Amino acid sequence: MPEAASYRKVDLHTHSTRSDGRFSPTELVDLAVEQGVSLFALTDHDTLDGITEASQRAAEHELSFIHGVELSTQWNGVPLHMVALNFSLDNTALLSIVGKNQAIRLDRARRIADLLVKQGLPDLFDEAVELAGESQLGRPHFATLLVEKGFVKDANKAFDRYLGNKKLGQLRDVWPELEDVLTALSGQNIELVLAHPKRYPLTVTKLKRLLGDFKKWGGTGLEVVSGNERPDSVRLLERLSREFNLKASVGSDYHGPFGPWMQVGKFTQIHESEVDLVWKTWK
Ligand code: AMP
Ligand code: MN
Ligand code: MN
Ligand code: MN
Repeated sequence: MPEAASYRKVDLHTHSTRSDGRFSPTELVDLAVEQGVSLFALTDHDTLDGITEASQRAAEHELSFIHGVELSTQWNGVPLHMVALNFSLDNTALLSIVGKNQAIRLDRARRIADLLVKQGLPDLFDEAVELAGESQLGRPHFATLLVEKGFVKDANKAFDRYLGNKKLGQLRDVWPELEDVLTALSGQNIELVLAHPKRYPLTVTKLKRLLGDFKKWGGTGLEVVSGNERPDSVRLLERLSREFNLKASVGSDYHGPFGPWMQVGKFTQIHESEVDLVWKTWK
């Protein structure tokens, strides 16, 4: 565990079984409360399905709960994730984006299965759909099947060998353009946060270009800490959040107990007094 990782009271990026997380929304909220989190957002990939359940459980615990979703988008052909926070569940612009992304997920899964078949693997589409059930279907479901069937040793290897962005080169242009998503959602009292900025294949120069676009198109926040972010990355992202006037957000990006350090509410330290915190203006 990196020295600077410790428990925080605010966690604005987590996943449940409604996308690719291990625990149900109820279990996740219970876990958050156990870990001492007091302000919590569920941000499943491209779905709002778990929010009502999580919200009800949070109310039972008197845990402050924020509506969230992690939206898949792309910028200059690079797949990017954006965390939308603190919206109302009847926001039609958001519902429309989420609905389109769900259709894309199904179509993309068909294409992923075809690419795997071309590499000599069996057609995993039907099993992936079945495995996902009511969850948003994604690459982690294919990874699970590849591990279960003994084609790879673990999910990481499945991504390295078959499912990573480089391996799925032909599937690059599937997600909606960042510009279109931001433009559709801006000005509606939704916090629009660029997720885990250090996880993209971008130099700092390119990242700055992205942040310029992100701000220009209506983005409001930057995830300054994601999980066990390197402390020097946190410093850089804090600086960029000031430079581009994007409010700082934080989160564990918790999916389940998949690593020794992973836990709800646990991530590298942010220097709170040096940035404008996204949650400070929330009621
Ligand atoms: P998708 O939403 O279908 O594009 O799948 C992306 C998800 O896969 C991410 O949100 C992660 O949860 C997971 N993921 C990405 N890279 C890896 C990896 N190397 N090993 C395991 N899981 C990964
Ligand atoms: Mn995920
Ligand atoms: Mn993400
Ligand atoms: Mn995430």
